[in-house]
Amino acid sequence: MPEGDTVWNTARVVERALVGEVLTGSDFRVPQLATADLGGWTVAGSGSRGKHLLLRVERGDEKLTLHSHLRMDGAWRAYRPGERWTGRPAHLIRVVLKSARSVAVGYHLHELALIKTAEEAAYLEHLGPDLLGADWDAAEAVRRIAGKPDASIAEALLDQRNLAGVGNLYKAETLFLSGLWPWTRVAEVPDLERTVKLAQKLVASNKGRWSQTTTGSLRRGETSYVYGRRAQPCRRCGTAIQKADQDERVTYWCPRCQPSPE
Ligand SMILES: [Zn+2]
Repeated sequence: MPEGDTVWNTARVVERALVGEVLTGSDFRVPQLATADLGGWTVAGSGSRGKHLLLRVERGDEKLTLHSHLRMDGAWRAYRPGERWTGRPAHLIRVVLKSARSVAVGYHLHELALIKTAEEAAYLEHLGPDLLGADWDAAEAVRRIAGKPDASIAEALLDQRNLAGVGNLYKAETLFLSGLWPWTRVAEVPDLERTVKLAQKLVASNKGRWSQTTTGSLRRGETSYVYGRRAQPCRRCGTAIQKADQDERVTYWCPRCQPSPE
């Protein structure tokens, strides 16, 4: 599942493949962009904001941004011309961008849109501060979360309008490390700022690598405290980790380290 750090890595993959290249062709396989053609456009750069990927292209004075959202399952892969596209099944391809040197293939992308680069900020304005952005602002994230005091803290951390970049893994791990029961109301979280900063630290510590760990260990089976560990013993207290549905997602927690209020 793409978390903020994965999106950042994906941005680098596309950037290395295409930045500075003149596109020789494009193939959009989504109805809203069926007639778009980026052939002749130069790829100027790429960036990410939360789970949103922004690929900037230019032609003369015109500047456009190709926006995509990776959600749970999206990915960009880069290939050499003629190389087999091994990333995912072909029916998941949403866009292909070709240059003389590289081919970038976007799989299962969501919210694919071509917007004017000048309008990027407005387009993304509804998003909260990006955990990996240069403009990361913990106080602003706290302010946004606190604005919905009745939401559960788990829901609040996943809400990209509060802060952009926390996925289900980092949510569960942040709550464990904060000692918070996932259904705790925002209003009852003792130190929101600490929790938000912890989430940022966990995501940032995985920036630049594909594997994700919150424990510091990259060994298989040791990379998380609670996420994906149902019925296994808590690394701190030995109690069996629990798993349950919460707001259409699953959540994991240790009933002893993250007790529900009586
Ligand atoms: Zn425990």
